[in-house]
Amino acid sequence: MPTELERILPLLLPRAIEWVEAQSALILETGEPLTAYQRRLADAVGVAHPDQVRMKVVDTLPLPEDVELRNVAVAAGLMGPGSIGVTYGYGIYVRDGYVTNRLVSHECRHVHQYEQAGSIEAFLPVYLQQIVTVGYHDAPFEIDARRHERDIA
Ligand SMILES: [Zn+2]
Repeated sequence: MPTELERILPLLLPRAIEWVEAQSALILETGEPLTAYQRRLADAVGVAHPDQVRMKVVDTLPLPEDVELRNVAVAAGLMGPGSIGVTYGYGIYVRDGYVTNRLVSHECRHVHQYEQAGSIEAFLPVYLQQIVTVGYHDAPFEIDARRHERDIA
């Protein structure tokens, strides 16, 4: 039997995609390009276009204003108080004080995953489906990102 999260995911997906696309656009407008060393990290974890990546350091990771969307994101373990980074297309949010090569390489591997999918619209349904079925920790895209974490380029 599908869980509550699995049941409501299809209903929320269009709003989730819209929100993530808007966040991605915001980071691309206001974030910083990767440093030369971070671009090498991005290259090392398979990012095809490291120059397109932008990173925005924030005090807290933005959550959707849409209450339903926000509750689901938190319930799915996607955005908890312990979250320190998140990737939306070519845009990466990192919490202030947590910018490490390890985290940047992890988030850049998610950029690679978006590139492979072709778009936010194509990536997000697969990623969220993984999370609602096996959980955030065991989602294959998260396992893959953890396996690509590195301290040196
Ligand atoms: Zn991750």
